[in-house]
Amino acid sequence: MKILCEVQVVNRTTQANRTPRPVKSTLAIGYKQGASDSNGNTKKELEMLLFSGTTKTGTRYKVRDNVQAVHTKFILDGKATIGFHQPAENLLIKCDPIQLKGFLQTLKLGMEGKDAINLRLNIAAATAIPQKSQPQQRMVVSKRSEYPIKGFPRTLKSLTINNSQLVKLSFEICTLRNLTTLDVGGNKLTKIPPELGRLPLTTLQLSGNCLGELNDWCWMRGTKLSQSLRELDLSSNGLTYFPPALVKFERLVSLKLNHNQLTRLPFAIRRLQGLRSLHVCSNKLESLPAAIEDLRIDLLDVWGNCFRGFNAEAAQLQSQRLSASNTPQPLWLQAARAVANYKLPLSADSVPAILIELISEAPKCLCGKLCYALRQEDLLQRVIQPKFTNIKNLTYSREHQIYADVVICGPNCSASQQLKALFALMFP
Ligand SMILES: [Zn+2]
Repeated sequence: MKILCEVQVVNRTTQANRTPRPVKSTLAIGYKQGASDSNGNTKKELEMLLFSGTTKTGTRYKVRDNVQAVHTKFILDGKATIGFHQPAENLLIKCDPIQLKGFLQTLKLGMEGKDAINLRLNIAAATAIPQKSQPQQRMVVSKRSEYPIKGFPRTLKSLTINNSQLVKLSFEICTLRNLTTLDVGGNKLTKIPPELGRLPLTTLQLSGNCLGELNDWCWMRGTKLSQSLRELDLSSNGLTYFPPALVKFERLVSLKLNHNQLTRLPFAIRRLQGLRSLHVCSNKLESLPAAIEDLRIDLLDVWGNCFRGFNAEAAQLQSQRLSASNTPQPLWLQAARAVANYKLPLSADSVPAILIELISEAPKCLCGKLCYALRQEDLLQRVIQPKFTNIKNLTYSREHQIYADVVICGPNCSASQQLKALFALMFP
């Protein structure tokens, strides 16, 4: 009988592991035909044979009067240990539980001197079970000529296609159900097929493409992808604005948007509660949304941007907004504020979906009130050198000041006074 298993060999006297970890092996058991004795009976010697990566010819162990112990406590987990007297070695075996049970039963019969069909293997001529090659899980294409003409193995977990002048992501890639990492950086992609949103990727590398050309973000609406993605790189894509659907990727841990032309980040970025590192260096950011402070960012890189205060025109507009602030608030905004205020659970059974989005994405005043849009009742203020206390590491060009945009729910809000006391405001 032969089984395919993983075996680690431990020498009991030296405590040295012949194999540092379990290796793919074949274990065989059977009789070796010996020479005939004086009475004409052939002597049969029961042997176990171990083929592992290191011993291509196999290591032989005598079985009769040579088995020191057989530990089967974890047989249901597919684990057992067989110890021999000579050599003083323990075989730590991992295998399919049913096969392992069968093998140990055969061993028992052999040790009791009984005959069994499973023992009729000629151990002298036994060979290792050929191991099927591992299914391919990784593929790297680093130039156009390496692109597989026959298609991709269905078993791929990680696929890298760099610098291959790719203008389109093939539909086939979107059907690789096992894929968790996709790196198609450094190509010429202008759009991503919406089907990609159905893949549960954890890492998506899209840097150095041309996605800002068409600004087609349909693929971001895929619920699978938006729930699974941890790392996204959209650097160097000519983006002129932050893709709105991106704020729904609530599990994102790392987001890279370097070398684009972003002028602002949305207040709704506060929805990315899992975000720990945000890279927006070499863009055209004029300010950061104060909502950044609602996140727990370990690393924020805003080096090489153009932070600045409002221009005179915008300031004028702001003061007009401030003076005309007696418009009644719409009912839905009041409803959203009430839900947020009482910290009611945002469950789809009790709160309409539109309200959930509103509550998780709307800009918040320093006092905590939601401000849906920058209407008359809202007041946007730009503060210089904001104190982001929740950001552990902030990288920015020292010659520039950082500005942040803060929303104030109305001229009578107490936060307005508080803000004046805290920061040097750009305008009163
Ligand atoms: Zn307020």
